[in-house]
Amino acid sequence: MDTVSKQVVIAGAGHAAGQLVATLRQKKYTGNIVLIGEEPWLPYQRPPLSKKYLAGELEAERLYVKPASFYEDPAIDARLNVRVESIDRAARLVRTSDGNTIPYTDLVIATGSRVRRLTVPGSDLDGIHYLRDIEDVDAIRRGLATAKRLVIVGAGYIGLEVAAVAARLGHEVTVVEMADRVMSRVVSPELSAFYEALHRDEGVVLELDTGLEAFAGESGRVTGVTTTAGETIPADLVVVGVGILPNVELAADAGLPVDNGIVVDERCATEDPHVYAVGDCTAHLSRIYGGRLRLESVQNALEQAKVVATNLCGGELVYDQVPWFWSDQYDIKLQIVGLSQGYDQTVQRGNPADRSFSCVYLREGRMIAIDAVNAPRDFMQAKALIAAGARPDPERLADPDTPLKTLAS
Ligand code: FAD
Repeated sequence: MDTVSKQVVIAGAGHAAGQLVATLRQKKYTGNIVLIGEEPWLPYQRPPLSKKYLAGELEAERLYVKPASFYEDPAIDARLNVRVESIDRAARLVRTSDGNTIPYTDLVIATGSRVRRLTVPGSDLDGIHYLRDIEDVDAIRRGLATAKRLVIVGAGYIGLEVAAVAARLGHEVTVVEMADRVMSRVVSPELSAFYEALHRDEGVVLELDTGLEAFAGESGRVTGVTTTAGETIPADLVVVGVGILPNVELAADAGLPVDNGIVVDERCATEDPHVYAVGDCTAHLSRIYGGRLRLESVQNALEQAKVVATNLCGGELVYDQVPWFWSDQYDIKLQIVGLSQGYDQTVQRGNPADRSFSCVYLREGRMIAIDAVNAPRDFMQAKALIAAGARPDPERLADPDTPLKTLAS
C-alpha cells in the first residue's frame, strides 16, 4: 500500500468526476488525484449519446470532458477498467477490483446512476438495448444498420430523443408508454401535447396508456413487444428508457446515510467529513424547493463537482442552485429551469404553432419552473426569477413580448 501525505480518491470517472479533476487542477490542489472508473473511457459527456452521437454526427473522443492529454499531468493517476469495491472509512482507504488498496485523505463518490432494467418475460432476448454509455450506443447503432422497425419503451427524454434520431434516419418508430402522455413526470399536459404532435408529424407512432407485458422472440432474438392491450408490435430492435437508479451501494455499504441518493450537506459532504459525493448518486438539500433533491442532470454534476473541488482547495462554497436541464428532439430545443412538481397554475407565453413558446409554472403565485421551447431568452431570464421566488403578474407573464426580467417583483 502506498503512503501519501495528501491524496483525493475519486470513485467513478463520469461527468462529475471529470469536472472535479479539472477544477482541482485549476485551483492548484496540492496533493495527488486518483481517478478510478469502471468504464474503459476517460470522463465523458452523456447528453450527446442519445442525440448527435447516436445520429453518427460526433466522434467518441469529442465526448470527453477533457482531452486525453490533460490526464498526462503527473498529479493525476487515472485508473480505468477498475471498480471501487469497498470503502474502509476507519482506515481511510478504498479497495479496488484489481486487488489494490488505495489510501485517501479525502474521498469523493461520483458513481452516477445505472439504467432501470425490465424483468418482463423475454427481457434477456438479443436486440433489446438500454442507453447509458458509449458501448450501449455503439451497439444500438450497429443494430440500426440492419433494423427497420424500432420499438422504444418509455416516452421520457431518452426514449423521445432516440425516437427523433431514428425517425430522421428513416426507421419505423413506435414508442410504448404506460402513462397517458409523453414526458408526464416532468412537463405539463400542454407541453406533452406539443411533443406528441411533433413526433406524430415525423411519423412516429405513439402508443400511450400502454403497458408492457412481454417481449416476443425467435431463436433468442427479439421480434416484437407485447403490450397490456394484447397486441404484439413487431420490432427488429428495442430500446428501453424507463429511468435510472442511483449507484448508492458503495456509500451504503460503508455505513453512510442514503435516502433516494447518498445524503450530502450543502458542501456536498456526507456525514463523514472526509467523504464527499457528487452528481446523479446524491440527494442534497434544496433551500429553494424546501426538501431533499436527487437530480439527474449535467448541471447538478458539474456544479457539485466544482463545490467539492473548491472546498478541497480551502474554499467555502455551498451548493444550492435552481436546477436546469435540456432535451433536443428534431430541431426543437427544450430548456427547463426549476422543478414544476406541485404547481397549481401554468401560464403559456407564445404560441406552440410558432414552435417557440414557454410554459411557466406557478405555485401559490410564486414562479417555480419554466419549460422554454426554442425560447432561449426566457430560459436565461427565468433562472433569476425562480431563485428570487418572484411572483409575476400572470397577465403580463402571458405576453411573450414582455421580457421575463422585467417581471421580477
Ligand atoms: P455518470 O456520468 O453516470 O458517471 C458515473 C461513473 O461512475 C460511470 O462511468 C460509472 O460506470 C462509474 N462507476 C459507478 N460505480 C463505480 C465503482 N464502484 N467504481 C468505479 N466506477 C464506478 N443531462 C442533462 O442535463 N441534459 C441532457 O440532455 C442529458 N441527456 C442525457 C442523455 C443520456 C443518454 C444519458 C444517459 C444521460 C443524460 N443526461 C442529461 C444526464 C447526465 O448525463 C447525468 O446527469 C450525468 O452524466 C451525471 O454525471 P455523474 O458523474 O454523476 O454520473
